[in-house]
Amino acid sequence: MGKSIVYSILFLKCPQCREGEFLEAHPYKLSNMNKVKKNCPKCQLKYSIEPSFYTGSMYVSYGVGIAVAVAVYVLTLIFGLDFGPTGILTSIVIALIITMPYIGAVSKSIWAHFFFKYDPSILKKAA
Ligand SMILES: [Zn+2]
Repeated sequence: MGKSIVYSILFLKCPQCREGEFLEAHPYKLSNMNKVKKNCPKCQLKYSIEPSFYTGSMYVSYGVGIAVAVAVYVLTLIFGLDFGPTGILTSIVIALIITMPYIGAVSKSIWAHFFFKYDPSILKKAA
């Protein structure tokens, strides 16, 4: 059964088969922070088209960071929390610091999904 692209991006899966792991380790494992594997362990897709392929994912992470900031702001509105401007800014900064490793990982995942096409038949071919 095929998995959705949202699942694949959020759970850091291979963009081609959506089964294999994308990162060497968990995003919060700081020693190996957001290191992308060389190949997909399931379909053998090479994750980097060229050296420093993932540098461009930095632009994606700005966008994801802004989305997190907006989400925090909206949550304070939904829950009617009146922190004042400084409080809201502080909450946003704290949320960004906490989610930073994951933002970096998801941004690389989005970047890869942008360049590689989903091909569920690849696993059958490999098997
Ligand atoms: Zn794969």
